Amino acid sequence: MANNLTDIILNDPDISYMGNNPKSPFGEEGCQCADGWAEIILTALKDVAKVDSNKVMRIGQIKEKFGGLRLYMDYPHDGGDMLYDVVNKITSQAEHDSYSICENCGSKDNVTQSTKGWIRTLCKICRKVE
Ligand SMILES: [Zn+2]
Repeated sequence: MANNLTDIILNDPDISYMGNNPKSPFGEEGCQCADGWAEIILTALKDVAKVDSNKVMRIGQIKEKFGGLRLYMDYPHDGGDMLYDVVNKITSQAEHDSYSICENCGSKDNVTQSTKGWIRTLCKICRKVE
């Protein structure tokens, strides 16, 4: 699902270096989730950009899975374990936060996970429309 958010990420000067590998899933597929999670994703990527001073990280994949955000970073093994741990904390927090934010519209009100079929994290209003 290439969307507006994909363009925002690829054009943001702070984080564009992470999306510039055309061979990575992210480069080919873009964000595979809806725009409601834009803020969590952009915040997490900017936090990664701040700690990754050597700019070695690449975005592996950004997608929705089992109702939650998955933010996979491609990590070169010579980048240092400390960087890996810090980035892991940032992406884990983003994934955790996504369960209380509507994937469609970004609302934090009445957000739940569906219990049947394709599990999605949506607010009451978006769930009715779906
Ligand atoms: Zn919603």
